[in-house]
Order: sequence, then C-alpha cells, then structure tokens
Amino acid sequence: MSHRVLLAGIFHETHNFLEGLTPLGDFTTRRGDELFTARGDGSPLAGVLQVADEAGWTVIPVIDMRATPSATASDESVEVFWTAFRAAVEREAAAGIDGVYLVLHGAMVSKSFEDVEGEVLKRIRTLPPMVNVPICGVMDLHGNISPQNVESMQGMVAYRHNPHTDACQAAIDAARILDRILKSGERPVGLWEQPPVMWPPTGTGTADDPMRTLEAMARDIERQHPDILAVNVFGGFSFSDTKFTGPSFCAYTVGDVAVARKKLQELSAWCLAHKELGNRVDPSLDDVWPQVEANLKRGETPVVLVEPSDNIGGGAPGDGTSILRYLIRKGATNAAVVIDDGAAVATLSKHKPGERVRVTMGGRGSRMGEGPVELDVELVSTSNGRFQLEDRNSHLASMCGVNIDMGPCAVVRHEGVTILLTTRKTPPFDLGQLRSQGIIPEKLAIIGVKAAVAHRRAYEPIQKASYTVSTPGPCASDARIFPFQKVRRPIFPLDALQ
Ligand SMILES: [Zn+2]
Repeated sequence: MSHRVLLAGIFHETHNFLEGLTPLGDFTTRRGDELFTARGDGSPLAGVLQVADEAGWTVIPVIDMRATPSATASDESVEVFWTAFRAAVEREAAAGIDGVYLVLHGAMVSKSFEDVEGEVLKRIRTLPPMVNVPICGVMDLHGNISPQNVESMQGMVAYRHNPHTDACQAAIDAARILDRILKSGERPVGLWEQPPVMWPPTGTGTADDPMRTLEAMARDIERQHPDILAVNVFGGFSFSDTKFTGPSFCAYTVGDVAVARKKLQELSAWCLAHKELGNRVDPSLDDVWPQVEANLKRGETPVVLVEPSDNIGGGAPGDGTSILRYLIRKGATNAAVVIDDGAAVATLSKHKPGERVRVTMGGRGSRMGEGPVELDVELVSTSNGRFQLEDRNSHLASMCGVNIDMGPCAVVRHEGVTILLTTRKTPPFDLGQLRSQGIIPEKLAIIGVKAAVAHRRAYEPIQKASYTVSTPGPCASDARIFPFQKVRRPIFPLDALQ
C-alpha cells in the first residue's frame, strides 16, 4: 500500500533589524501540482520528491512558499500557508494521511510569531486527524531552533555544510527517515540542547572552527550510535531576535534517550567552551588594503573583498556602496562590484551601450549603510538578468533552484571599476552571475562580494586572496551593535558569562 504524505514548505531567513516588513508578495508561492516543477532542480523539494518516487509514496502537494532573506515577515504569509495546509488536511483526512514532510528554514519570524516553524507545527498537531501522524522535514543550518520545533517532529535533518552545498541531500536524508518511520511504525524521540551563545553568520562556515569540529563530532555520534537517526548542528542566525537565537543541537533517536541526551550535552558544552571561535569581528578596508596592494603587485589576482555587512544571503539589501566608494577612492583598476538598484537600471535602460550617463546608485536599502553614490559612468550593456547556475549544487540552488532571475540588469564602468546593477538582489553564490553579464571573474583584479561564507564555493577556486572586511551595514558581524530585545540573557557575546 502506498503511503500518503502531505508535502509543504515555508522558508524564510528573517532579519529582524531591517526596517519594514517582508510582504506576502515577496514570497514565491507554489500550490498543488506546481510543487512537482521542482523535480530535479537541485533544491530540497527536489530531494524529497526523489525519495517519494523511489519509495512509492503518494505525495499530496500542498503549498511551498519561499522568499530570500529579508525583514520580518508579515503575518499574512503565515496565514496563507496555514489556510492551504488546513484545507488539505480537511480534504484528505478521509482518504488517510500517513505522514507530513515540511521544507523549513528554522529562522523565520513574522510580526506576531517569533518561531514561525514552531507555530506551524503546533497548529498541525491541534488538527484532530494529525495528532499522531509522523512529521519530518529539512531545515537550514542557520535555524534558531526551539524545543517545540524539535519535539513536534519525528525526524529532521539540517544542512551539514555552510556554504549549503548539501541542501538537497539533507532533504533526501530526512525523507528516508520518514520512509523508515512509515514502514517500521517506529516513533523517534526528538531531543534539544542549547548553550547561551550566538555567533554572526561569518562565524558559522563549516570549513572552519567552531562549526567544523561540531559537525565532525555530530557525524561521529551518528556512526557510533545507529539508533540515533540524525544529529543536527545549527549555527543559528544572529539577526533574528528571538528567545532561541544562536547555535543549538538536536537529535532523533529510536534508542536510549539518556544516551542521546548526553551526546547533545557534550556538543553544547564544546560549543560553550569554544564560543570565542565563532565570534568573528572583521578588519576595516584600510587595515587590509596594504595586503591587497601587495597581492596586486605580485599578480595574485583576483583578490576578493568580502563584505558581510551587506550579506544578501543574510537579508541585507545588497546595495551598500562602501566597497565601491573605497575602490574608486583608491583608483583601483580592473575591479568589479554588484549593486542592487532597479531604479538605476531603469534610468540606464533609456540609453545605448557606449553612452555616458550620470547616475545615482545604491545606498537606499538600509539606514546603517553609507548612502547612495552619484557617478559618471559608461553604459557597457543591458540584459534581462536571467542565468542558469554554473554549479547546480551551489548554495543558491538550496534557496531557489538553478534558474536565477536578477531582473533587468545593466553593466556600467566608472574609471577602473565595473559595476553590475541588478533589479532583484541576487546572492553572489555562483560565477554565472558575472559571466552571464559579460564580466569574466577570473580575469578581474579585485571583486567585491556581498556575502559572509556562502560565496566561498564559487569564489575560492578562482581567488588568489580573500579578505573579509568590516563596513557599515545591517549584517555587520559585531552583535553588540544591534538592539536585541527578545533573545534570552545572559548570552555571549552580549553579556559576560560566568
Ligand atoms: Zn543558511
């Protein structure tokens, strides 16, 4: 007999310190059979569909909503998801619902709900047909995970890598846990631990400590204890202001609960003891510039200047002008940056390539940045901004599949700096972004990148040097500059711990 599984997703990494709300219209919403269009596109949804096909589930596709990281979500987005989910349960209950699979982030906050995932799970459990139905799902490594979240599910797998090159695989692993539960009737127990720590996104790359060791410890636990079905290490997302912000650990076990709890406590204790390792505070552009000049002199290019304060993957507007200003001030040559500014693109679209235009660009997305820049530029080209990922396993595929739409784009040049202007902010996680616009990344001397960690898979193979720098902006690494209100206290690095 084929198992009937409800499939749904709601996915948003919420930056509570950005101004305004993320409206419903910013979510890409697919309903019913539209979810099947994700088949084979490298996304988590594609991963669960693959297992569903192999295992012969009858998938009941409900709704999938996703938006790129941005300000606090409107409650409407939660209610649209919930209305669709509840209607599906009411419609399908008579025929039987054997399981639920959810594609979630873990750091979604709406105006009224600081733990959207926990709220959704709580509501699902209140529907009479759903009291005992197993719920499994996949989460982003940057989730701020509540105990409610963990205990409401019977299996969950978080991405193991940051950059998130394994989002589809994590979804597959979680789907296999659900398939095991459906076939065996087991009821795994979810356990949760959290230390009083939070780290900026720059501290959560899995190639470096603390995350590298924590991930290795978690995989060891899975190998040594086959009855622990998954051990998840969450790095947390420090720009969400919630009670449970920060690293957390969870496990699902069909064996001895005390053993699994002890293992999680070991992870949590290691995290606390090594908390400083994740607390990156970056040097300024002035601090690193002598090294950049030395690289240029030795022909060690491209040099990548990474700007976490305008990290698009973390919700920043992607229109900060600090690096652009600096490169111009220093007379940099053969440099490139990307600035999201649809208004500037609209102005430029009235001109022909080769024309010189005075245009104001960037700096409008956040009060924390340095503001717009006005420049005389030469228009190089315009395009519709669509491209396909060169790397189908890139971090970007975990968020939106392989077909990327930057909206109308313009490439302009001011002295030695080439600027790609986009209409939809697009995280710099794939070299196709530049190459599709005629900018060859390997040939550049300096590239400004608005990211924290997730750009590395794309840029590390071509860069000869990389500097992560501190500039003013809403995703700055120093947590102490943000007005936290809801996070549990005391917490490192806001408070001195005993
Ligand atoms: Zn993430």
